[in-house]
Amino acid sequence: MTTVLAPRSGVAFRLSRDQILRVIDPEGTQVSDLLAFSASDVREAISNGQTFAYEETIQLTTGSPLWSNRSNPMLEIVEDSAGTDDSLFTPCSEATFRHLYADKPVHCGCFGNLAEALAPFGIEADAIPVAFNIFMNVRVGPDGRIKLLAPPTAPGDFIRLRALDDLIIGLTACSVYDSCSGSFKPIHYETER
Ligand SMILES: [Zn+2]
Repeated sequence: MTTVLAPRSGVAFRLSRDQILRVIDPEGTQVSDLLAFSASDVREAISNGQTFAYEETIQLTTGSPLWSNRSNPMLEIVEDSAGTDDSLFTPCSEATFRHLYADKPVHCGCFGNLAEALAPFGIEADAIPVAFNIFMNVRVGPDGRIKLLAPPTAPGDFIRLRALDDLIIGLTACSVYDSCSGSFKPIHYETER
C-alpha cells in the first residue's frame, strides 16, 4: 500500500529487520530526507561520517550500507533508479530558511517535521543527525565548494532500502527551495516484506 507524504511534511514509523522501504518521487525533482534509529535503543542512529569512512565514498547508491554511530550497518540500498542521493547536508530547518532564504517565509523545514514526528518515539530534536537525502543532487567542486542542484529525478523514480535492524524511520518531503527545484511536491512510500 502506498502512503502519500504531503508536500513539506514528515512522518515516522517502525520498519522491521528485512523489511524493504521503497521511497518514490511521484512527480520528479523532489527530495526526501531519511533518518533511521535503532528501535531497541534510539541513541543509535545513522551516521554520515561512519558511512563515508567505511564505504570510502560520498556517492552512496545501490549496494551501499548506511552505517550507524555505533558502527553497525542499519540499512542497505538495494535499488536506486536515479542514483543521485546526498548525505552531506543537514535537514533544512527554520534556521536554514533564515540563513539562506532571508527574502522568503520561514518554514519549520524537514528538521521541524522530523522532530515532531519522532517525538512520540522518544527521540529528541537534538538527537537528529545528518540525514540521508534521497534524490538530493549535490556537486562537490575540485576546490571543495559544494553546490545544490535540482534533483535529476523523473516521475516514478524510486529507491529501495532494506532494514538490517529493527528501526524507527523518519521521512520527509523536503521543504527547501533549492533542493526541490523551487516547488514542493509529495513523496510516496511503501513497505515491502
Ligand atoms: Zn528539507
